[in-house]
Amino acid sequence: MSESGFFEEGSRVGVLTTQPLDRLLDYRAPEGGCFEGAFVEVPLGPRKVLGVVWAPGQGDFDAAKLRSVIRVLDVAPMREEMRSFLARAADYTLTPMPAMLRLATRAPGLGDPPSMRKIYRLGDGVPDRMTDARTRVLGVLRDYGGLAFTLKELAEMAGVTSSVIKGLVKQGAVREEDSPRDLPFPRLDPDRPGKALTEDQAAAAARLRDGLRGGGYGTTLLKGVTGSGKTEVYLEAVVEALRLGRQALVLLPEIALTAEFLTRVEARFGARPAEWHSGATMTERRRIWRMVGQGEAQLVVGARSALFLPFRDLGLVIVDEEHDTSYKQEDGVLYNARDMAVLRAATCGARVVLASATPSLETWANAEAGKYERLDLVARFGDAVLPEMRTIDMRAEAMQSGSWISPSLRRAVQARLGKGEQALLFINRRGYAPVTLCRACGQQIGCEHCDARMVEHRFLKRLMCHQCGETRPIPDTCPSCGAEDRLAPVGPGIERLAEEAAAAFPDARIAALSSDLFGSARALKERIAEIAEGGADIVIGTQLVAKGHNFPNLTLVGVIDADLGLQGSDLRAAERTFQLMRQVAGRAGRAAKAGQALLQTFQPEHPVIRAILSGDEEGFWKAEAAGRQAAGMPPYGRMAGIILSGPEAGPVFDLGNMLARNDAPLRRVNAQVFGPAPAPIARIRGRHRVRLLVKAPKGAALQEALAQWIAPLRLKGDLRLNVDIDPQSF
Ligand code: ADP
Ligand code: ZN
Repeated sequence: MSESGFFEEGSRVGVLTTQPLDRLLDYRAPEGGCFEGAFVEVPLGPRKVLGVVWAPGQGDFDAAKLRSVIRVLDVAPMREEMRSFLARAADYTLTPMPAMLRLATRAPGLGDPPSMRKIYRLGDGVPDRMTDARTRVLGVLRDYGGLAFTLKELAEMAGVTSSVIKGLVKQGAVREEDSPRDLPFPRLDPDRPGKALTEDQAAAAARLRDGLRGGGYGTTLLKGVTGSGKTEVYLEAVVEALRLGRQALVLLPEIALTAEFLTRVEARFGARPAEWHSGATMTERRRIWRMVGQGEAQLVVGARSALFLPFRDLGLVIVDEEHDTSYKQEDGVLYNARDMAVLRAATCGARVVLASATPSLETWANAEAGKYERLDLVARFGDAVLPEMRTIDMRAEAMQSGSWISPSLRRAVQARLGKGEQALLFINRRGYAPVTLCRACGQQIGCEHCDARMVEHRFLKRLMCHQCGETRPIPDTCPSCGAEDRLAPVGPGIERLAEEAAAAFPDARIAALSSDLFGSARALKERIAEIAEGGADIVIGTQLVAKGHNFPNLTLVGVIDADLGLQGSDLRAAERTFQLMRQVAGRAGRAAKAGQALLQTFQPEHPVIRAILSGDEEGFWKAEAAGRQAAGMPPYGRMAGIILSGPEAGPVFDLGNMLARNDAPLRRVNAQVFGPAPAPIARIRGRHRVRLLVKAPKGAALQEALAQWIAPLRLKGDLRLNVDIDPQSF
């Protein structure tokens, strides 16, 4: 390899593939040579697989048998900085490199030249006759308002064979076109005038701008109550990044939040940013992946996986609602996007802004320790004041059975409706009822594959497992004892609460908002926009609505069960409840009207409930921090989970016990192991899960010790091991 990282034709290159192999594979550089970092297609046995030229070849492989790289793909090589980020992320999360590479190559059809494909969109013709399959195809095209798809995508989305689509093309109902070359993104203009900032906001924005101009890595916690203008402030940081010619990434926890955000970006910069999330079409994702790599996409708004896009010059990462638990990826590679954002920024010399009204204890502690800069916005913007918060003591309310809205809350809602204002009833449970119980035998209906109850979804007319997603029709007879018509829903979910609200407020327009009640993210976004415009009087929502939406006319929030998160033994329960309740309450009175939040609770004197009401955040964090410190728990100690799983419980426990007995590598770094015990979700999709928790002092080389500990393990048959660094629940 020459100094410029170029490999001459025929020289040996070490290629990292996305296949589960624990080493690089040696190949011969192709005709014309290739650069280090090049995306390539290589032969592996009878197959062709995707890989990246990672290093010079090792040379121990017989030269005569060496095969050649098939071709170099027509995309920019992976940058040194990205390769080093992936390697560091792999070390941190103890993830094999091929799995990391898969995260970084999530763009479908990575190597295909765009001109080779045909795309399909809605045509003007009317089909001679409609079939179910045809209706589905046209429905998908209509749902996605004018977007085009490849044949394969469209067939998959509509659940039809490609011949159905071809048939519609013949009749002109679907149009077939050559795929254009990647459409460029419209330029964002950072020089358009923004809003006039308040003094506080301007000071915070200036600090963020200075950080960017200074160059190099740095993380800032931007803390401010909901409505204080955090978004306004961090958009100023985006302005600065764009002026400096660098790219910016904004991570948001929920797709449903992006609609309002995109409108704001458009108003600020005169064009829409690139949107990266799992709901985006393949065509769109392919385009974004390439454009980000070419530096053409200046601003990406996305879900956590956007961190693995091949930015050419990433200067700024914003993590909005940084405390949100959905940033933790709980499947496959287990990582927390907030932590990965910091790692990515540290690797490429970018600034990070962590924005939240209720930061995670980790971030709060990092700011206390001076590792992160902290900026505070203390007041809500304009005349908006924080809502008044009160509890409703449920012990003193005359509740009817099967009812969850107390008389006090009912009166409060009625009063708001009388003034033409909106109310939000919050319950953090999807579905109709969390439990379906047989009144004859007392059994609850559970999932056949998971350690979870089946939740009734009346709207879908099905029972659903919230672990594995399996659904089945609601039975008439009890699956355990066969009794007829004795199954009863127990407890409230959002759908049941909506039913009660409809009966209690017959004249009100009620909107139930929960992710599963909408066929597509688009439909959900539209509904949210409608509500913001006054299209509903009472909003019934799950935690989906606890975040970022701006409903200007919403002045009352009623929390149906403020105690819900306080049950159970999770050490983070207090932190979570505190965050969620403060966030939900923040939905009230965002504009000029004063708001109120009412919390229905059976334990109004609980310290967490009292902290929520008093709003003494620093006091709350300090008490939480002291508790964690005393227990040696994160962020004052280190933790990791080892999750073992398999089809039978016995061998999984045996393996766990064997690991627990052989803990010498852990003891060398003063780490302790607890368990094996059933994992927080003890069975998913028919697999039994057992967890070992490892606790180590703050400075311990935990990853190395874990790696040594599990290295001798040979997983037989269908047994699996997953490492979870910094587990969410412990
Ligand atoms: P946060 O992100 O902290 O919840 P936002 O940035 O969303 O706060 O601001 C809340 C509301 O106040 C938004 O509608 C926003 O447009 C408005 N706002 C905030 N700051 C200003 C400002 N300086 N001038 C005009 N409107 C503002
Ligand atoms: Zn299940």
